[in-house]
Amino acid sequence: MINLRHGKIPRIPDLVVWPKSEKDVVSILEAAQSAHCAIIPIGGGTSVSSALAVPELEKRCVISMDMALMDRIIWIDRNNLTCRAQAGIIGQKLERELNAKGFTCGHEPDSIEFSTLGGWISTRASGMKKNKYGNIEDLLVHLNFVSTKGTIQRQCQVPRISAGPDILQVILGSEGTLGVITEATIKIFPLPQVKKYGSFVFPTFERGVEFFREIAKLRIQPASLRLVDNEQFIMGQALKTEDNSWWHSLKSSLSKMYITKWKGFSVDQMCAVTCVYEGQSDEVDEQERRLNELAEKFQGVAGGEENGKYGYRLTFAIAYLRDLGMNYGVLGESFETSVPWDKVFTLCNNVKQLIRREAKKLGVQYPVLASCRVTQVYDTGACVYFYFGFNSRGLTNGLEIYDKIETAARDEIIACGGSISHHHGVGKLRKQWMLSTHGAVSIGLLKAIKSEIDPANVFANANLIDIIGSPHSKL
Ligand SMILES: Cc1cc2nc3c(=O)[nH]c(=O)nc-3n(C[C@H](O)[C@H](O)[C@H](O)COP(=O)(O)OP(=O)(O)OC[C@H]3O[C@@H](n4cnc5c(N)ncnc54)[C@H](O)[C@@H]3O)c2cc1C
Repeated sequence: MINLRHGKIPRIPDLVVWPKSEKDVVSILEAAQSAHCAIIPIGGGTSVSSALAVPELEKRCVISMDMALMDRIIWIDRNNLTCRAQAGIIGQKLERELNAKGFTCGHEPDSIEFSTLGGWISTRASGMKKNKYGNIEDLLVHLNFVSTKGTIQRQCQVPRISAGPDILQVILGSEGTLGVITEATIKIFPLPQVKKYGSFVFPTFERGVEFFREIAKLRIQPASLRLVDNEQFIMGQALKTEDNSWWHSLKSSLSKMYITKWKGFSVDQMCAVTCVYEGQSDEVDEQERRLNELAEKFQGVAGGEENGKYGYRLTFAIAYLRDLGMNYGVLGESFETSVPWDKVFTLCNNVKQLIRREAKKLGVQYPVLASCRVTQVYDTGACVYFYFGFNSRGLTNGLEIYDKIETAARDEIIACGGSISHHHGVGKLRKQWMLSTHGAVSIGLLKAIKSEIDPANVFANANLIDIIGSPHSKL
């Protein structure tokens, strides 16, 4: 976005095509092969890993295959609770149409406004309500995948199969490097009887993490559960326009006294949790009761439904702030990781400290935003999501500095036991850590799959791995 604002146009696709059906995709692929063109599939264009960037050294004509017109629900199966849709359908449309028929797909990434079913599958996406409905790999039942060697599809649409390694798992996360997802069957769920928000405040982030750890142990996580650190809590409250925020109520002397004097909270340490409960009314009541009880053990104080709703919805809006910030010289983005429970707290602290240190070292002259939240919980660990931003006024190479700090932060994440990505994927941004993540044998296997299914490297977006002989390869 910065480069575009400054008129620095990188290598862009030479041609855009809009297939309307799987048949069109097959024809375009055949034409591209015979004319020696490259193809990059695009869904909603919400990738935050440079997955859609055209490799600078690609000499062939690059076709952007835009899936926007393949946006229909094909059928809904009420008996088996499945839905078949074209891959270009955008999340909010899919959800709106399912809701109208009494169902939900339960997949709610913060990018639901623009991201597509095909994009979710090809990036191994994770929704904010995954605790109840699962990640995209849990929701996917079946798909059609068009490759240069033909179409992949299983003969049956069954809930599970023991028939060797799961080919769907190869396609999930393939990031447009192997072919095009044209249609998918996913699970659907009857709309929940009740949807309710909740919130808590905790004296420190550490207490909040301990609360989450216990929730995961007891497996009582509601549909969504998020813990924001003090910086994000303050930022969220500062963005609020109504006067009924925690922040505002803290200003009223009675509430302030209750939280700070009676409960011993410090305003510059406290953090917040937001919850979304979905299910049958008695189920939701029970979840809420258990969470309230548990929160008390960790010094948590219930913050009410309104604050929960605001906190949950805030992240949908926050993305828009990035572009607004740019008008004032602010560069900001997010990155995420997954980490075992025993390392969550240290990783969060270390990465935030490193960001501040590196920014200072690299000449950033203003205070830096380094903030995190725990967004998804698992039996063995959690997903941690960072926001990082700084005012680049006075710097000639703000973008370069941003990249350096983010790379250092990623190295720190890995040193602290985290992964290169929980749900944003690899693209080209995190490719440098693929070898250390998987090891040489696994990378060899990925290369073998690529050269078997796409020997001419038609799907040339150069995500995930370098292909021997391709122009961008360092091998
Ligand atoms: C504000 C914001 C919030 C976000 N929140 C979340 C979140 O909560 N959870 C999450 O998981 N991610 C999130 N993301 C990241 C992003 O939305 C996901 O990676 C999403 O799954 C990408 O979908 P898309 O349709 O936009 O794909 P695109 O960005 O268009 O493409 C992503 C990759 O998939 C390939 N691709 C797309 N469609 C197809 C297809 N039909 N066949 C083959 N390959 C294809 C592309 O070639 C590319 O490599 C967020 C991004 C933003 C900007």
